[in-house]
Amino acid sequence: MGTERIVNKRRKFFQTSAALLGGTLLYSIIKPFEAIAQTEEEPTIDDKNLPLWGMGVDIESCIGCGKCAEACKIENKVPEEPFYFRTWVEQYTVKNDGEVKIESPNGGIGGLKQSVPDEDIFKSFMVPKLCNHCTKAPCVQACPVGATFISPDGVVLVDETYCIGCSYCIQACPYGARFMNPVTKVADKCTFCYHRITKGLEPACVEVCPTNARVFGDLRDKKGDLVKFLQDNPTQVLKPHLNTHSRVFYNGLSSEVK
Ligand code: SF4
Ligand code: SF4
Repeated sequence: MGTERIVNKRRKFFQTSAALLGGTLLYSIIKPFEAIAQTEEEPTIDDKNLPLWGMGVDIESCIGCGKCAEACKIENKVPEEPFYFRTWVEQYTVKNDGEVKIESPNGGIGGLKQSVPDEDIFKSFMVPKLCNHCTKAPCVQACPVGATFISPDGVVLVDETYCIGCSYCIQACPYGARFMNPVTKVADKCTFCYHRITKGLEPACVEVCPTNARVFGDLRDKKGDLVKFLQDNPTQVLKPHLNTHSRVFYNGLSSEVK
C-alpha cells in the first residue's frame, strides 16, 4: 500500500473516530510521516535532498512570557505599533460558566497576566501563534502576481519586489498571520527567520524561549528535534478542517482554540 493510501486510511480513521466521539475530538493527531506526505502533495516542494522546515509548539510548556514575540519584533524589524506581529501569544481562559476569554495584549510582549479571578477559572493556557507555513496555502493561491510563494525547503515567503500591496493574501489567510507592513507597504509575515535558518541558526523565537516551548527543525531529519517532538507527543494543527496542511504542530491543543 502506497504512503498516500496509508495516510488517507489513517486520516479517514481519525475522521471517523472524531465523528463517533460526537464531535468532542476536533483535532486529528498528526504523525511525522503524515506531515511529510501532506507536504509532498505540494508540487513546489519536490527536492527531497533539501530540509523540510516545520515547528512544534508545546502548549503545556508555554508560560506566556512573550519573549518570543519580542525577539521576533526586534529580529525582523516588525513595526513598533502594538498591532503588528509575526508571532504572538494568546492566553485562553475557560471560565467555570463555560465562557472562553482570549487575550493577547501587545501580543504577549511583557508577559501575559490573568485578568479572571482564580475562583472563576476552569482552565487557562497559552497558545503561541505564527504563520503555519501551510502546504496548501490559501495566501499563495490568492496572490495575483506570484509574490507569495513556497520555498523549495517548505517556507512560505513574500517577494517584496513583486508584492503590489493588494492585501488579497491577508484576507485569504484563515489564521490572521499576515499584515500590511506600514513601512515597506508590502505583505508581511513570519518567515521562520529564513535569513537565520539558511545559516544554520534557529528562528529568534525558538532561540529565546526559556522553556523550549517552540521546537524548530527539519521534518525529513528522522533523528532531529522536531521529528522526536512529533513522535513523543500527540500533536495537532490549527483548524484542521481547512486542510491547509499546516507545518506548525501543537501538543496539548484544546478544542477551545480557534
Ligand atoms: Fe499563508 Fe496564513 Fe497559511 Fe501562513 S498561515 S501559509 S500566511 S495561509
Ligand atoms: Fe511561550 Fe516560549 Fe513564547 Fe515565552 S518565549 S511566551 S514560553 S513560547
